[in-house]
Amino acid sequence: MMGLATDGGLLVPEFFPTVAHRLGSLRDLSYTELATEIMGLFIDDISEVELAGLVERSYRSFDDLLVTPLVRVGDIHVLELFHGPTLAFKDIALQFLGELFDHILKERGEQLNILGATSGDTGSAAIAGVRGRDNMRMFIMYPEGRTSALQERQMTTVLDENVHNIAIKGSFDDCQHILKSIFSDLPYKHDLRLGAVNSVNWARVLAQVVYYFSAYFQLDQEGEFDVCIPTGNFGNIFAAYIARQMGLPINKLVLATNENDILSRFFNSGVYERGEVRRSISPAMDIQVSSNFERYLFFQLGEAPEKVVDFMQTFERFGRSEVHYNTAQFDSRFLAGSASDEETLKQITHYHREYGYLADPHTAVGLHVASRLSESGRPLVSIATAHPAKFPEVIERAVPELEVTHPSIIELMDLPTRSTSLEADTEVVKAFIRRMAG
Ligand SMILES: *Cc1c(COP(=O)(O)O)cnc(C)c1O
Repeated sequence: MMGLATDGGLLVPEFFPTVAHRLGSLRDLSYTELATEIMGLFIDDISEVELAGLVERSYRSFDDLLVTPLVRVGDIHVLELFHGPTLAFKDIALQFLGELFDHILKERGEQLNILGATSGDTGSAAIAGVRGRDNMRMFIMYPEGRTSALQERQMTTVLDENVHNIAIKGSFDDCQHILKSIFSDLPYKHDLRLGAVNSVNWARVLAQVVYYFSAYFQLDQEGEFDVCIPTGNFGNIFAAYIARQMGLPINKLVLATNENDILSRFFNSGVYERGEVRRSISPAMDIQVSSNFERYLFFQLGEAPEKVVDFMQTFERFGRSEVHYNTAQFDSRFLAGSASDEETLKQITHYHREYGYLADPHTAVGLHVASRLSESGRPLVSIATAHPAKFPEVIERAVPELEVTHPSIIELMDLPTRSTSLEADTEVVKAFIRRMAG
């Protein structure tokens, strides 16, 4: 349940269990059976029956029986991860995390107050995982008036008593600053039993490993395949890396970024160098420092923690760190590229015109890089991370004649909302949480 380890680093499994020898026996399982099998290999303190129950409840709300269906689009296979309650792939991990935390808290007879900050893209998935539970309260800060109307509605239409939407009179940076100051007040944190569900949580990564197996079985052919993944915090692609280490026959991991391209630059040069965060039309990937990247480094640097510490400290201090390498690529298992907003829009238009397939802007970043870097001969699975109806303004620019929507978004427009507006002041937010946490 802890995010960061006590020394400020990240938690990783001691080893990756292998399933290479029994892929055949997993092939015919349902998504929930597969998830129970794969995650069970990493879990020794929840019985198989209990885990199966958690998994079953996690994916009940998905609107596709396959949970993560694989769709053929031209030469590419698109793995759709957006069939959960908030129409983005974060649901796959956060629905499970909600069930998992609930289970552990019940067992321990404890309560937890979860505090988070969002620029708008991911808050709703965290809320959806926690709403209505009696042993968790959720406090989520977002910058007032600076998220899209739709994103705000996805959060504020949740009226469950345990969910507190906090509109901060300030920027997303203010929200993050408040979050950091509150978490660094250790007596307060302890007193209020504060926790987080951020993207470094190990259970989130684990839940994401499953759908790469699902993709392989849906391809319905033996042999190697490539995956292309629109990347921000490196969580999704790290899950693919783990699946590969476990024996899933993934050949290339194709990493796709928008113009915030620190990761694609790294995989093409060995240099990890911070840039300015630029706003793009794929906002969930407007990230410069990717929290899960450190986990990959650990394995890449021979599981030597002191090398990771050295790399990360150099990066903290100078905004730049380098791994020495002398081949054309840093890691031959990875290919990496980026897409500008213009290229992203072009892909949306192209896929709609050619195949009648509508991709959201994050998915389109992946499709752009996939089309440039894919190596012929192997099947390519490109990951779709959000439903296009979440980004109507972008879709309108790319395909003007089309109006895109989704029943669960239409429904939002008529629902009542609840949120509390607070000054961008750590003490004000602390007092609010204390009052609401009783
Ligand atoms: C979070 C997110 C991403 C990036 O995923 P990471 O695991 O952070 O690399 C891509 N697309 C969408 C829609 C997201 O919400």
